[in-house]
Amino acid sequence: GMPATGRIAVVTGATSGIGAATARRLAADGAVVAAVGRREARLRSLADENERILPVTGDVTDPDGMRRIADQVHERLGRADLVVANAGTMLAAPWAAADVDEWRRMIDTNLVGLLWTGRVFIDDLLAAAAEGRRADLVHIGSVGGHQVFPNFAVYDATKAAIEHLTRHLRVELGPRGVRVRTVEPGLVQTELGDDMVFPGSREALAELRRSVANPLSDVDVAEVIAWSASAPPHVNVAELVVVPVSQG
Ligand code: NDP
Repeated sequence: GMPATGRIAVVTGATSGIGAATARRLAADGAVVAAVGRREARLRSLADENERILPVTGDVTDPDGMRRIADQVHERLGRADLVVANAGTMLAAPWAAADVDEWRRMIDTNLVGLLWTGRVFIDDLLAAAAEGRRADLVHIGSVGGHQVFPNFAVYDATKAAIEHLTRHLRVELGPRGVRVRTVEPGLVQTELGDDMVFPGSREALAELRRSVANPLSDVDVAEVIAWSASAPPHVNVAELVVVPVSQG
């Protein structure tokens, strides 16, 4: 059947990679999906694939903009009951040579943006839970949140913070019926890191990617996200680590 029929989803970072695959998957499963990201043309072509996808251009680091996005979702779709905070940026540099603006970009996007995404939809999720329906807040972390990779200190720190913050939110929101979880992927073949500027960082990432045979695809991670949201209402798959077998 269609496991997400009747659900109203929001996916941030839906212009590429895991977010785009998740929007596609949830829409194919019957949900209506607000797809959020900055690259408008990408969102438009994604929405052309499935009439259940609504393109919503926006930047997760803009708090007022995110409030307007929530208003738009309410007007066009209704109250969200499945929020996937996926938007993220990964920049790498040796710590001793790193740039404070790059740190801020990662912290603003991966951490503050993720938190605020949940915050602007929390009343929706609480309302769904109060009606006895599934209410999911999914945070995309990373194995970088519990392993360490040289030159990724601040990126990995944002992901570690996501894990710990998610545990806090679970304690606050679980008793009110909201299922808060992290999905923590290993290496996934996406555009992540394509915008790194530190000399040699893109080559180092390409080398890391080559070292892992059969990396995950964005679709693999989307499947896991969709599956976790389809669990029975009283079940929360709280922390999911998903890695390519060869990554060990
Ligand atoms: P992509 O680069 O393909 O996707 C990142 C998405 O985030 C894009 O849609 C981008 O859209 C969006 N985004 C970035 N900044 C903003 C912003 N300020 N506001 C709104 N959207 C934003 O990479 P992935 O699919 O790999 O990344 C998705 C998530 O998965 C990230 O959180 C990443 O950290 C995590 N992850 C990825 C792994 C991998 O190996 N690829 C491993 C572990 C975790 P746009 O630029 O159009 O705004």
